[in-house]
Amino acid sequence: MPSPSFADMRRRNALKIVATVRGTPQVSRADVARLTNLARATVSSIVDDLIGIGLLMESGSKQSAKGRRPIGLTFNPEASFCAGISVEYNRLDLVICDLDGVSHIERRICIPTVLDAGALSDTIGDAITTALSEANIAQLRLGSIGLAIPPRVGSERPTADPSFIPIDFMEVANRLQASLSCEIVLDSHLNMFAIAQTHRKCLPDEAETILIVRAGSSVHSALLLKGKLFEGRERRAGQIGHIKVPGLGGQCYCGGNGCIETIASDLAIVASCAASQQDVRSLDDVMHYASSGDQTCEATLKKAAYGLAFGVATAINLLAPDMVIVAGSSFVDHHQTRAELTNVIESLALPEILQGCQIVIGTSDPQAEALGAALNAVAIHDLLPGPLSL
Ligand SMILES: [Zn+2]
Repeated sequence: MPSPSFADMRRRNALKIVATVRGTPQVSRADVARLTNLARATVSSIVDDLIGIGLLMESGSKQSAKGRRPIGLTFNPEASFCAGISVEYNRLDLVICDLDGVSHIERRICIPTVLDAGALSDTIGDAITTALSEANIAQLRLGSIGLAIPPRVGSERPTADPSFIPIDFMEVANRLQASLSCEIVLDSHLNMFAIAQTHRKCLPDEAETILIVRAGSSVHSALLLKGKLFEGRERRAGQIGHIKVPGLGGQCYCGGNGCIETIASDLAIVASCAASQQDVRSLDDVMHYASSGDQTCEATLKKAAYGLAFGVATAINLLAPDMVIVAGSSFVDHHQTRAELTNVIESLALPEILQGCQIVIGTSDPQAEALGAALNAVAIHDLLPGPLSL
């Protein structure tokens, strides 16, 4: 049994070797020793173990006139996989990607709206194990799990509030960690969306200031400045949902009145329509009725679009961004909503600021948040299985 300090040192050396091979594919053991300043015997012994756990691969040995030629080493990104889950009140988006961030599985799963932490963690666990099994990936190769969840606001929301997902996500994370034996990383939907969009190079290089607005169970925004998230004090920036719209909206869980949150969150829209149209149980129902000419549902969607656009136009006037992306909820993709959003933004934002601003309504990448969560998990994933006996 090696001493703890010896094991630590060997682990650090192993990570250094992995990083060197990742950066220099087909590198020989001798060159790894040179590049890492480690003894050749140490490198050889650790490399043998890393090959044993599948993190490194050899490209084959060659016999030359001078004897055995060095074997090229490469990193195996499929030695381990990370899962990313975006949790909304009515659905899970799931992505499983390898250590290079390449997505192997992407899917959307509808879930019942009333799940407690135990049921939600079971549902997420089942979704991950089913996806791994269908892709023939052994569960042992699951590294970490990233969860994209609604960001916290300053005050705790009362559970009676209809716009609240009454879930303790720390409890979900703890339960998942216990059942799947891997680390769980929590972050907000928007941060994860931004990570994925940056990773997939969906955002134009010339756009230095990008505002992302996410509707859904609640309404939030994120600001990307030169590719970096602006998080504000105590990471509280982006509460666009709590901008008050004059003359509209109701009592908000934040304590204020007339917040966009009470007009344009999915659940506020559904609650408003359900009060007068009892067949309405979901946002899909609202959009279906609106398309069939139901005036209540049409008016509610229009009001929601106005409220959301009011916040977006306010943010545009304040920030003069190069680009604005409005996404998250399927209601922003509805044709009536899109038209209203565009009209209101154009009427409320200053024309000279709007002129240089590209506005994208809806997203062509519905799995972006889940992919971002998976990439976040990859970024913190300790590549080596522990306790390391290397
Ligand atoms: Zn509020």
